Amino acid sequence: MNARPPAVSVRGLERRYAGPPDVVALHPCEFDVDHGDFVAITGPSGSGKTTLLSLLGLLDTPSAGSYLLDGADTASLTDRQRTALRAYRIGFVFQAFHLVGYRSVTDNVELGLTYQGVNRRHRRRAALEVIDQVGLTHRRDASCTTLSGGEKQRVAIARSLIRHPTLMLCDEPTGNLDTATSNQVLDLIEQVHLHGVTIVMITHDPDVAARATRRLTITDGVVAEPSPLIA
Ligand code: ADP
Ligand code: MG
Repeated sequence: MNARPPAVSVRGLERRYAGPPDVVALHPCEFDVDHGDFVAITGPSGSGKTTLLSLLGLLDTPSAGSYLLDGADTASLTDRQRTALRAYRIGFVFQAFHLVGYRSVTDNVELGLTYQGVNRRHRRRAALEVIDQVGLTHRRDASCTTLSGGEKQRVAIARSLIRHPTLMLCDEPTGNLDTATSNQVLDLIEQVHLHGVTIVMITHDPDVAARATRRLTITDGVVAEPSPLIA
């Protein structure tokens, strides 16, 4: 009774691209992600990982099926409501960082709040807080072009954290990083998870997926829960 609905609940969610040839990038799938879960979705290149994450991030709309975010049916949202959810509820971390290279670390992190009517002083203070959280205070005035890959990803995570998302979607967050750096970024994602953020992380790397508390696989657009015996 009155149980909190899952953070994410998908039923028969499907994404086709019209051809020719027609592509079923995501076959109808069904799964829930509970609040506070840290789910890794693994699959080879071209298996539909980005397609699925784009649907979960409200960057794309499904061809069929339903997607409930915190119990609310996303199909009935207006464009404005979708934009607001992407801005306030959902954080994104991408493989390619997407930073403004010539701007400083602090400026890039502040950009996360630029369109949210937060005044300059508050933006700066909020930025310095999350920059500290990702361990980059000593680099806060550095231009992003001078950062290592791992530092860039930590800036991207800070930029997403400044909005206090409840759901963080990561698409191959360590895809451009060497193993040592990748472990540092995963430590940080784990720390974000421990602060209560629900995480869905896409990866093709089983070692990266091992850091999550739950795993799903995707193969040729088919999402499955691996058997506990081999998980
Ligand atoms: P992954 O992220 O696992 O590498 P994607 O989700 O990007 O895979 O793609 C899954 C499948 O859907 C691939 O076969 C890809 O070619 C196809 N696909 C992705 N986007 C489009 C599109 N806009 N139009 C047509 N096919 C697409
Ligand atoms: Mg992809």
